[in-house]
Amino acid sequence: MITDFLELGLSNEILNGIAELGFEKPTPVQARIIPQLLVDDNDIVCLAQTGTGKTAAFGLPVLEYLDVKNPATQALVLCPTRELCRQISRDLGNYSKYKEGIRIVSVYGGAAIQWQIKALRSGAHIIVATPGRLLDLIKREAADISGIGTLILDEADEMLNMGFKEELDAILEQAPESRRSLLFSATLPKEVERIAKSYMKDPQIVTVGERNAGAQNVEHFYYMVREEDRYAALKRIADYNPDIYAIVFCKTREETQKIADALQKDGYDADALHGDLSQAQRDNVMGRFRRRSLHLLVATDVAARGIDVSDLSHVINYNLPQEIELYTHRSGRTGRADKKGVSIAIINQKEKGKIRRIEDVIKKQFTRLPVPGAREICEKQLVHLIDGINNVEVRDDIHAFMTTINEKWGEIPKEDLVKKILSYEFNRFFDYYRKAKDLNIPEKEKKEGKKAEGSRKKSRQETDAGAVAGKDKKARDGDPGECEKGFRWLRVNLGYKNNILPREIISMMKACGIGKKSVGKIEIFNDYVYVGLKDSVADYARSQLNGASFGRRRLNAVLM
Ligand code: AMP
Repeated sequence: MITDFLELGLSNEILNGIAELGFEKPTPVQARIIPQLLVDDNDIVCLAQTGTGKTAAFGLPVLEYLDVKNPATQALVLCPTRELCRQISRDLGNYSKYKEGIRIVSVYGGAAIQWQIKALRSGAHIIVATPGRLLDLIKREAADISGIGTLILDEADEMLNMGFKEELDAILEQAPESRRSLLFSATLPKEVERIAKSYMKDPQIVTVGERNAGAQNVEHFYYMVREEDRYAALKRIADYNPDIYAIVFCKTREETQKIADALQKDGYDADALHGDLSQAQRDNVMGRFRRRSLHLLVATDVAARGIDVSDLSHVINYNLPQEIELYTHRSGRTGRADKKGVSIAIINQKEKGKIRRIEDVIKKQFTRLPVPGAREICEKQLVHLIDGINNVEVRDDIHAFMTTINEKWGEIPKEDLVKKILSYEFNRFFDYYRKAKDLNIPEKEKKEGKKAEGSRKKSRQETDAGAVAGKDKKARDGDPGECEKGFRWLRVNLGYKNNILPREIISMMKACGIGKKSVGKIEIFNDYVYVGLKDSVADYARSQLNGASFGRRRLNAVLM
């Protein structure tokens, strides 16, 4: 395995660009793909998750081979969302900072088309586009893809999930035969396979990295507080981490807005991101978050999809998500590209069971932390302030004022002066925290909580035992045992109670575009069925089934 960018065969211009971004060694997808893209021209289907470094994996070779003197469009990148479009163009721009004259134009829906037409007409070596808008621009003869040498389909599964099937077909029909095609996808559902079969030339399938490989670097913590102290706990977490740069996940749009408003009112650099905002408002919030003038982005899961901001210090679950799978997505936003990440959950006493269920799914333990108290927070903030003062650059400009400074401070002993300066900055903290109560739940309450949980557990066991002794000898829900290698369990809320049969499950999967070969063991219990699905299609199946209707039943599908 190649462990150094120098071994990849890239030019100095490109190497300088990525060195400036702090990329020290290639990620696995880069080490696997870049050398191949530089030496042959075969088509590749690459199964890789977001956050694995795939933009550079396809971007660096494209930039390397780009002929700046030729004004024609030489590469096309198709991706599902506007955010991703902008992010990919920005990344490509950064990689090629030292290769002069490259024009990268991104075009996407929801923005004025006239500007995009103008940008394309001024010349675009690389177009990064969402399928719908590109097709529109091709029809208007503003975009010309007839000369492209490389076509990249990024997050192909997501593009198809978002309903871009027809647009993709139309674009792919028009791309020149001689092009090389690269397709990146997290999963390989039937529709993606179809695209690969119909429009790619004998593609090699490369699987790189595990699901959410970044998750390996993430540590998981939880704070347990009374329900009414949830917001106070969030503020303590923010105060205890003076350099915090985090996404705070909430359950609903209303809650997202409410928490962001409260944080702003309390003096934090925070704002909300959710679906009720206009595109311009969302762009504004994201711009400020990227520039780090916002430190806390309070977001819903849906709004946060497609955002890729590296270097988050924390992901905070203000509320745990309904679906465990979402927790994995949330926490996977930190700890990317070999960096350490921290995922925090704020829970009440009743949510401990949910933490255990998440632990089972992510195969990692949470550590419970005590909510920091006034003393710890004040000390942390004070040290941060002192470190800031210690590290500040003392410029010559200050010398002109030394006489005045000495007049004012000359007589004050050093120790008093230090106290005065720190108090000046710090009194508001002392004032705020003077009255702060301990948010940790006292032992007695904890024990009572445990007792209540114990009796709940007992009654659950009794119910299970009753069901096992029942007519069909099946538990309401049970342990389906190990799944086959390379498969994952998908639990769906349909069971014997609903008269579901294995062949109906297979038809259901077929209707989602998942063939029989991708379906493994099926275990049916009273209330649930566990369906073993190939790793590559499991997430796609979940997204198709969750929330869908089965008769009058709304399905809940969870990956285990
Ligand atoms: P991507 O999967 O392309 O969206 O990349 C995920 C994140 O990893 C982005 O923030 C990249 O800037 C960063 N990244 C990509 N490659 C490397 C690398 N070789 N070293 C460090 N960071 C990287």
